[in-house]
Amino acid sequence: MNVNLAMWIVLAATGAVARAGIKGYPDDPKLPGVPYVVHDPARPQPPVVGTAGAVSVKPPSDAIVLFDGTSLEAWTPGWVIRDGVMVATKNDIQTKQAFGAIQMHFEWRVPAGRKVDGQTGGNSGVFLMGLYEVQVLQSNHNMTYPDGQAGALYGQLPPLVNATAPQGEWQSYDLAFEPPVYEDGKVTRPAKLTLFHNGVILQNGESYLGPTEHRKLTTYPATHPAAAPLRLQFHGDPVEYRNMWVRPLGKRD
Ligand code: MG
Repeated sequence: MNVNLAMWIVLAATGAVARAGIKGYPDDPKLPGVPYVVHDPARPQPPVVGTAGAVSVKPPSDAIVLFDGTSLEAWTPGWVIRDGVMVATKNDIQTKQAFGAIQMHFEWRVPAGRKVDGQTGGNSGVFLMGLYEVQVLQSNHNMTYPDGQAGALYGQLPPLVNATAPQGEWQSYDLAFEPPVYEDGKVTRPAKLTLFHNGVILQNGESYLGPTEHRKLTTYPATHPAAAPLRLQFHGDPVEYRNMWVRPLGKRD
């Protein structure tokens, strides 16, 4: 047996078959409304925005500051602070406070010199309400299945474009999130996300199919909290965060 065939068999056994050099899961469940499966390596790659710069926005006066460079007080259990930067060290962390609809800003960076390959090396994420991941991934010159790259609704929807800055540079996310609306035990409006990455829009009021899953087609649960803690993902990589704040969104009278 030649080496390539042997390697393909090993990859196929793990479900991580390479297609056109991109690792993914071509045998995962089909997504609704599009001719692609969850984590489809053959899904078209979003166009690359060549140069986009991180946008640093100071917390507005009514923001709840989750990390200002000095304190991990908002988090449990907490990671570590190095040089005013929060560094992912082990386990997911979550906010002590629960949130529903929010505006959120934060900046993130994958350290230069670290080996990044697909979903490994530069992976984290913010789970809105602890349930809905906005993918954080070093996606500059790092191809992966499009619903797993930076700014994806992980496992559900790729970003419109790839606006990821080079590894080692700070990047910004600005997002607005709304939880799903339930009436009589049914979802009448799905959870919605708008996301800007380095000032470039990646998600324009897009809908989650349900809470984030890996290699499964998600659906909404029968019941849903009105608010829940934000969670930051530790995926084995020392992803760095700074200047993180949220503004809970009220309703118009
Ligand atoms: Mg992630």
